[in-house]
Amino acid sequence: MGKVLTWVLIAALAWLAWRLVVISRRRASRAGTADSSAPKTGHADNPPEQIVEPERILQCARCGIHLPATEGRFAGGRFYCSEAHRDAGAAGPADAAARPDRNEPRDPV
Ligand SMILES: [Zn+2]
Repeated sequence: MGKVLTWVLIAALAWLAWRLVVISRRRASRAGTADSSAPKTGHADNPPEQIVEPERILQCARCGIHLPATEGRFAGGRFYCSEAHRDAGAAGPADAAARPDRNEPRDPV
């Protein structure tokens, strides 16, 4: 019976130590995000603590398609869905974005 109690005590102490490590890490990450801009990449060992910002969805100035900002290209203050549209949009970027009806055939990406 004494052995069982010893093992239960060891397990409880290990759990307590693990909880202290988790809580101290959580406090350290919160302190880090409070005074500076939030780091987008957290440590690999605590993925639940990562701050995931919502992805910005932008419209291609050439064909009007919507896609995440990280998947497109920026040129001249405008957003394009691909390098081809970025290059094509440099010639006449205003007509596709300003035109309400987009019945013209779109270039395959
Ligand atoms: Zn496009």
